[in-house]
Amino acid sequence: MDHFTYRNGRLHAEDVAIADMAQQIGTPFYAYSTATLERHFNVFAGALDGLDALVCFAVKANSNQAVIKTLANLGAGADVVSGGELARALQAGVAADKIVFSGVGKTDEEIRLALETGIRQLNVESEPELERISAIACEMGVNAPVTLRVNPDVDAQTHEKISTGKLENKFGIEWTRVHDVYGKGANLPGIQMRGLSMHIGSQLMDLQPFRDAYTRAGDLVAMLRADGHTIEVLDIGGGLGIPYFEDEEALAPSPADYAQVVRETLGGLDVELVLEPGRMIAGNSGILVTRVIYVKEGATRTFLIVDAGMNDLARPTLYSAFHKIEPEAEPAPGTDLIDADIVGPICETGDTFAKDRRLPPVKAGDLLVMRTAGAYGAVQAGTYNTRPLIAEVMVNGAAFAVVRERMDVEDIIALDRLPDWLED
Ligand SMILES: *Cc1c(COP(=O)(O)O)cnc(C)c1O
Repeated sequence: MDHFTYRNGRLHAEDVAIADMAQQIGTPFYAYSTATLERHFNVFAGALDGLDALVCFAVKANSNQAVIKTLANLGAGADVVSGGELARALQAGVAADKIVFSGVGKTDEEIRLALETGIRQLNVESEPELERISAIACEMGVNAPVTLRVNPDVDAQTHEKISTGKLENKFGIEWTRVHDVYGKGANLPGIQMRGLSMHIGSQLMDLQPFRDAYTRAGDLVAMLRADGHTIEVLDIGGGLGIPYFEDEEALAPSPADYAQVVRETLGGLDVELVLEPGRMIAGNSGILVTRVIYVKEGATRTFLIVDAGMNDLARPTLYSAFHKIEPEAEPAPGTDLIDADIVGPICETGDTFAKDRRLPPVKAGDLLVMRTAGAYGAVQAGTYNTRPLIAEVMVNGAAFAVVRERMDVEDIIALDRLPDWLED
């Protein structure tokens, strides 16, 4: 369910015409729908009703201040994976005691920042990290609230680049070693062991891996308690998949089905649950709006060359991801479709958004919209080919506001410095 629909033949975000926004701020740009964000958060949180659960939005999916604040206003916490994201969450108004810090490579500075600001917990991924946190906490004279991230060794059956819960992945502590490492943590000064955490991957379209991982987590909690440890928290990560195209709609597990798995595997465990959904909340809440620069009739195919590139939306290049692409102008019923490759202007063959996509005929100057671009879109953007980061816009009913300014080429160049031997 989202709020991007055709009205009188023109695509709208809530009550705002995409074409009007494009006219005012230029293309390409990301647009987020407040109503969709809110709906997704409320449906997800609502599905967990009756459980002792805190939903911490995974900020890495979309770290715009306006997005984080919209969710924080609904009661969301934040899952962060860097000092930068921690700063973003705090600045957007997420209370420190609702922030959890994940990630395999926390630096001393990041650990210090986490302890200074008093976040809810650090999800620890290795023994050296545990020792480092202990040393820093002692130095600062504080106790660090910690969960141990378990690698449950389950196959999330998702894209290899976003699969995180197999033993060969870099994440977490092998579940067979959790017993020893937890005991070690409990004896370290400056460490307050609060429980376990896990995150097995992203874009999971099957609930079975969750069921397997959560069952294993429940067993580990029971084992640790039998050993005399207090386990207050179980952070079960994010990863719930979403439909990117029609055929997936029937397959994508609903938040209600997912919550049922959580209830069945962990409902009776008497722990406080933390959940870290990212994509599920933000994915369908955003679109990328782009303009066709040229229609190029190649030797064997038609290319629609658009003004967005792989530096703006990397998912197709990075994960061979599918994004639904729609014209801003609704095609008349019965319009003959064409097959086209939709490509960006960047000097890489990988700068391709879609191949052999069936679309109504489009001409130069027309607007196209890439759907489901609200998660892992703007956050992965870069400035390759000296292309400025594009604008982000948030829509709320009939209102819209630029929530990140488009960068200038000058801003990019101004970061460079000439060494003295090259100065005139
Ligand atoms: C990426 C990530 C998430 C969010 O994953 P989604 O698939 O967007 O729900 C949650 N927790 C951790 C630790 C992550 O790295």
